[in-house]
Amino acid sequence: MTANLLDYDLEGLAAFCERLGEKRFRATQLFRWIHQKGASQFDEMSDLAKSLREKLKTSAAIKAPPILAQHISSDGTIKWLFDVGGGDAVEAVFIPEEDRGTLCVSSQAGCAVNCRFCSTGHQGFSRNLTVGEIISQLWFAEHFLRKHLKTSERVISNVVMMGMGEPLQNYTALVPALRVMLDDHAYGLSRRRVTVSTSGVVPMIDRLGQDCPVALAVSLHAPNDALRNDLVPLNRKYPIAELMQACRRYLAFAPRDFITFEYCMLNEVNDAPEQATELVKLIRQEGAGVAWCKFNLIPFNPFPASGLIRSSQDRVLAFARVLSDAGIVTTIRKTRGDDIDAACGQLAGDVKDRTDVQKRISRQRTVMLKPVSEITPRGRENASND
Ligand code: SF4
Repeated sequence: MTANLLDYDLEGLAAFCERLGEKRFRATQLFRWIHQKGASQFDEMSDLAKSLREKLKTSAAIKAPPILAQHISSDGTIKWLFDVGGGDAVEAVFIPEEDRGTLCVSSQAGCAVNCRFCSTGHQGFSRNLTVGEIISQLWFAEHFLRKHLKTSERVISNVVMMGMGEPLQNYTALVPALRVMLDDHAYGLSRRRVTVSTSGVVPMIDRLGQDCPVALAVSLHAPNDALRNDLVPLNRKYPIAELMQACRRYLAFAPRDFITFEYCMLNEVNDAPEQATELVKLIRQEGAGVAWCKFNLIPFNPFPASGLIRSSQDRVLAFARVLSDAGIVTTIRKTRGDDIDAACGQLAGDVKDRTDVQKRISRQRTVMLKPVSEITPRGRENASND
């Protein structure tokens, strides 16, 4: 069977090389070709012995899922839709800013958590992505952007696992993918520039702290269990008190870090100043709160099935003021890519139609937008207030 080399972290690739009867150090060369140079053909790998290249041609491939569509927003945000087979598609979104380029990556096709405000959750769960399908999103995006921005320098400086899916419910593929992102022979991203966002899978937060303590973002969205049970059903299994304790333990593995609490602002559901005060009490609780944290308030992106409404800017500002006055660092996320449905919660909103896959795929193909030559560094000047 042909191995897809995008499925391996460096250790896995070394084991694969050994199986081919090659020295382990060959894996480092191969790994650099794949991830630092974006090679997809073994003939490009000029410093590998011809005999090894021939062996690789018969036993391995470097294969990302095909691109179904590419959408470019007027603010420079780019969304790619990857066909992962069986009628499933997942999205990756590149968000250019003045001082960084962030890629939002998916970990599952669909999601089983079913948060009320999330269009991905409403589409149900299909399957976990493989390591290769996760890392392909970065591999493709980074080398596509370098090519079209005509640069050999790194374009993507930050990765957030905030696309489709709950990453901690696909832990066995997530960790090797994170290792590839961090590896100096691949993307060399610093631990603090790779963020895993979770709805609160407590046991896996603990494991991540031990295995690969990258930056952690927690989708909180409510100050108490009664409301959070409704908005994030996983809360019934891992209530807020347990989640807070897991955050405290995580910080022990990631000293000098902080937890980012994400809070989707839902009109007259979770956005009252009294609820902000309740949050302050929760976070500041002696022996049970999370001292090192910041809040990111996220404007809700409405979709018909949710029955929810975006909070007004006044309500968001009043909510933020309560948190800030209590000394909690609070940011309000600027929406990006609205014209291409690339904002949080809209990922693949138009994709998951199990009843008519061919129609869906042909519809997606028709939305190929501007030619790639129009991706210019100009888009990177659009800073957000994140
Ligand atoms: S917000 Fe995240 S965890 Fe919740 S349903 Fe959406 S993708 Fe899943």
